[in-house]
Amino acid sequence: MDFSPSEKTEAILQMIRDFMKKEVYPAEREFMHGTFSSLLPMLEKKRAKVKQMGLWAPQMPEEYGGMGLGFMDHARVSEELGRSPLGHYLFGCQAPDAGNMEILHKYGTNTQKKVWLEPLVRGEIRSCFSMTEPEKPGSNPTWMETAAVKDGNDYVINGQKWFTSSADGAKFAIVMAVTNPDAESHLRASQIIVPTDTPGFNLVRNISVMGHKGEGWPSHAEVLYQSCRVPQSNLLGQEGMGFVIAQERLGPGRIHHCMRWIGIAERSFELMCQRAVVREIAPRKRLGTKQIVQAWIAECRAEINAARLMVLDAAHKIDTLGVYEAREEVSLIKFFCADVLSKVIERAIQVHGALGVTDDTILSFFYRHERAAHIYDGPDEVHKVAVARRILRRFGGGT
Ligand SMILES: Cc1cc2nc3c(=O)[nH]c(=O)nc-3n(C[C@H](O)[C@H](O)[C@H](O)COP(=O)(O)OP(=O)(O)OC[C@H]3O[C@@H](n4cnc5c(N)ncnc54)[C@H](O)[C@@H]3O)c2cc1C
Repeated sequence: MDFSPSEKTEAILQMIRDFMKKEVYPAEREFMHGTFSSLLPMLEKKRAKVKQMGLWAPQMPEEYGGMGLGFMDHARVSEELGRSPLGHYLFGCQAPDAGNMEILHKYGTNTQKKVWLEPLVRGEIRSCFSMTEPEKPGSNPTWMETAAVKDGNDYVINGQKWFTSSADGAKFAIVMAVTNPDAESHLRASQIIVPTDTPGFNLVRNISVMGHKGEGWPSHAEVLYQSCRVPQSNLLGQEGMGFVIAQERLGPGRIHHCMRWIGIAERSFELMCQRAVVREIAPRKRLGTKQIVQAWIAECRAEINAARLMVLDAAHKIDTLGVYEAREEVSLIKFFCADVLSKVIERAIQVHGALGVTDDTILSFFYRHERAAHIYDGPDEVHKVAVARRILRRFGGGT
């Protein structure tokens, strides 16, 4: 299978690489040391440049102002953008908005598209996805407490969510809530659009993660829904289909996450190699001459290459056979790529010594923020168990 990008895609990737070097990496220092809101005017200018270059919202159809790239091409773009924590944001395809765009595009009514999707794609507003609850296991999203009860033409939502990423400053949330408590487990919940200025949408706090509370887009909120009333016309798709829609969002979403992680791994790898060839550990003796460092470099190279091929293979399978048929490959890449990511960042930090744990390089940011890769979008163990059970079934066993 030849996964090389087409000439047209390669040209787009080169434009993105150039923009990343000129405009994105130099902004990282301010991002690491400043507040998100203080950075917004500068980020808006850079977003305007991306739009002018025709590189905005690569994954969205052209009629919405996006580039209309296919799934495989967007996967490639995601790797390039993933090299910086600002990449996806500056190109209008950041989580959780990109996933929300996808499901609004697929399941939204015309009115929902006009009111929420169009300004979201234009980058005028932000959104969040509110599924996980502190008192229930996020790894089993069919089991949740938040309920949406019909009252007249409305839903009244009550419940507690947390890790609603980017809720701070978002215009709307897509909330998972139980609407059909008597249905079988995966048909109980629905996804409902809740404008964040609705009375009863209460952002309790931005949760401090790895010593950083975050603010605006890079933040994770606890949200209390207290008699939060929205019209039933805010239902996304069919009632009871919340879990099915979430699964559909997560399949392709995992490809994009994995490619983003590969971008981070490549960047960390480059930093590691750059450091290894300049750092003298004795007069005229560079770190890169040490076999253990050479072994790390070779191992990282092999692991990143393997991860990328696995992700492109899974993406190809989704493209040709659909999300359901590709579920095993998607589970494999989810934990494999998270593992490769952690290992590469860890070794890159080690090669940098004390410098690696300072905030003078991007590595410490990656180390703090990407640990979560093993947890979100399904913890590693859930994917491993799912894959192993399917394999064992083929051998006549496994429960
Ligand atoms: C940075 C970050 C951003 C996030 N953003 C969002 C967001 O925007 N919206 C949202 O709704 N949620 C978000 N989440 C939440 C995320 O989806 C959940 O944390 C995840 O689903 C795991 O749920 P949990 O934290 O409740 O862990 P639990 O379900 O309590 O699981 C704890 C641990 O148990 C183990 N485990 C669980 N199930 C099994 C199993 N079947 N077999 C073996 N071991 C198992 C795993 O090691 C797991 O890590 C985010 C989380 C993080 C860390």
